[in-house]
Amino acid sequence: MANETKKVLGVDIGGTKIAICIADTNGDIVASDRVPSGATAPYDQVMPQIIDVAKKVAAKAGLQLSDIIGCGICAPGPLDMKGGRIMKSPNLAWDAVPIRDDLVKGLNMPVYMDNDANAGVLAEWFFGSSKGKKDVIYLTMSTGVGGGIVSGGKLLTGATGIAGELGHIILDVNGPMCGCGHFGCLEAYCGGRSVALRLQDRLRFRPDHAMFKLPGVDGKLENLSFQAVREGAKLGIPIAVEMWDEICFRLAQGIGILMNTFNPEQIVLGTAAYYAGDFLLKPVLHYLPRFAWQEASRCCEVCISGLGLKIGELAGPSVALNGLYEAGQWRP
Ligand SMILES: [Zn+2]
Repeated sequence: MANETKKVLGVDIGGTKIAICIADTNGDIVASDRVPSGATAPYDQVMPQIIDVAKKVAAKAGLQLSDIIGCGICAPGPLDMKGGRIMKSPNLAWDAVPIRDDLVKGLNMPVYMDNDANAGVLAEWFFGSSKGKKDVIYLTMSTGVGGGIVSGGKLLTGATGIAGELGHIILDVNGPMCGCGHFGCLEAYCGGRSVALRLQDRLRFRPDHAMFKLPGVDGKLENLSFQAVREGAKLGIPIAVEMWDEICFRLAQGIGILMNTFNPEQIVLGTAAYYAGDFLLKPVLHYLPRFAWQEASRCCEVCISGLGLKIGELAGPSVALNGLYEAGQWRP
């Protein structure tokens, strides 16, 4: 199991695009390309294109498919982890498609799959801020809130593969409604879609409000986003200050629960936290002692993603490497 540099293939499934890349085991992207259609086109049409583009990307890198040690599929949930299938979801046209087995046949290599948030913690663990650690959590805040947990040097998957749905920890049963149907989830407080909807609800009949004058909002209700809350809070606009404070408070609550439950040595915050930096991190750390035991927080660093935006392209390769790692064929 000598650790010389090897190559893995990543297949990142999205509604509008499918990104395919080859990375080496140091986390450098060697070649990449996109399948013109995404997962909104019929699966039977797209699958041969994925194989075709994978071969082209390999050729671009001067490789044969047989030079690549494994493939990782990164897809939005829900996934059937045992069956290797992508299940029906609002953003994809596919329903229970056996993508893992089809890629094994088409590429003739081991193929593994996981969701974006688990891929995120794997990428940070193999290549980013969490390299060399054994107990780390990655929390990503974009449209929703997702997470992945590495505990004792192993990705936590749970009985059916859905472990790590950290956005749906319920913080207050009387809180705002979440997209999952429950009330008061972390995602309902901190997810981009939910924050934007609450802001829009509050300002629907106030077109003269200062928030509408922010750059990027351009007077349009639908442009009142998570980013607008962040920028408005920086300028001291009261409604944004109040909402940003609530985001930080609730995020600290979520992080405190994670610290006391999993006792990680590091919690890495991605996406929205990457853009906000200290403006988010400082108030979160201020509120944290209300929620985390001292013993748990003393040994745990809370930090912003070291990979930043690169985490997206390393998602598929990281899933491949974790599969190979668990099969005893590679080690970080
Ligand atoms: Zn929820």
